Amino acid sequence: MRATVMYGAGDVRIETVPDARLIEPTDALVVVIRAAICGSDLWPYKTMDHSETGRRMGHEAIGVVEAVGADVRTVKVGDVVVMPFAYSDGTCVFCHEGLQTSCIHGGFFGTVEVAGAQAEAVRVPQADGTLVVMPAGTDDALMPSLLTLSDVMATGHHAAVVAKVGPGKTAAVVGDGAVGLCGVIAARRLGAEQIILLGRHPDRIILGREFGATDIVSERGDEAVERVHELTDGFGVHSVLECVGLEESERTALSIARPGGAVGRVGVPQDETMPASRPAFYNNVTVGGGPAPARAYIEELLPDVLEGRIEPGRVFDRVARLDEVPDGYRAMNEREAIKVLIGF
Ligand SMILES: [Zn+2]
Repeated sequence: MRATVMYGAGDVRIETVPDARLIEPTDALVVVIRAAICGSDLWPYKTMDHSETGRRMGHEAIGVVEAVGADVRTVKVGDVVVMPFAYSDGTCVFCHEGLQTSCIHGGFFGTVEVAGAQAEAVRVPQADGTLVVMPAGTDDALMPSLLTLSDVMATGHHAAVVAKVGPGKTAAVVGDGAVGLCGVIAARRLGAEQIILLGRHPDRIILGREFGATDIVSERGDEAVERVHELTDGFGVHSVLECVGLEESERTALSIARPGGAVGRVGVPQDETMPASRPAFYNNVTVGGGPAPARAYIEELLPDVLEGRIEPGRVFDRVARLDEVPDGYRAMNEREAIKVLIGF
């Protein structure tokens, strides 16, 4: 089968690799029908050291179950399934607490342990706990939005939940990438009254407004902090969704939370230390977040997608075939595309 392999910064290739197959009795083999390139795939695309063996990329997919192991009970051959970016057993203490990204038998796709989903097929460990079966006859037109439940929409929602977005609250979303844009959808869905999007790319801002952003702040650093305070009677916002992970965006996020507010971090932090610790302390700001337990949120978000109340699939502004994936990485890295959908 063919799959996406990254050999180092800027070096993505489509190669023929051994067919994905069942290994554990709890596995499912899924033929991929839609996949995506993630903003987080751009970190290794920018920085990865050369590797002789390469890394099999991809952690967002929809597919059709082709085979299941002997211990798989609920997922059946022929099911159309959404795969969250982490696999989980659905039965351990953390899964029961809704934190499937910390599953004691879990892990992540596109790693050394489990090959990625930017491929013709993928082995899914812990199939019963991991996969979410789509209703039969699901409209093809919904596929892009359903695919976002693998990661970006679930991640934006996680940021909003951790940031305690609620009816009548003020919210700010730091970052206008696909996750930030989904964060706008999530903030609106949870009832935020004012949603300030911090971003500076015109095409993304247009989409952000359509998703529900009420104000746009395109300044950066101290000027951005000042602008947000101007827009909120000098107080800052109740809820901040940090969707970037860089030093400056984190500093901004912690500086625009109002006293007693909360910051939900979903941008993978690129530094060991967190900036603005002291103002956050004196303002009693709650800081939380991490990898989104997408599996916990898919069932909650699914009806809104199926019934068209939210359309997160609009973050995909380019479609590529598998052999066009290397150019898709380039396009996202150069900000030519917000997010690339891979069709088969
Ligand atoms: Zn678990």
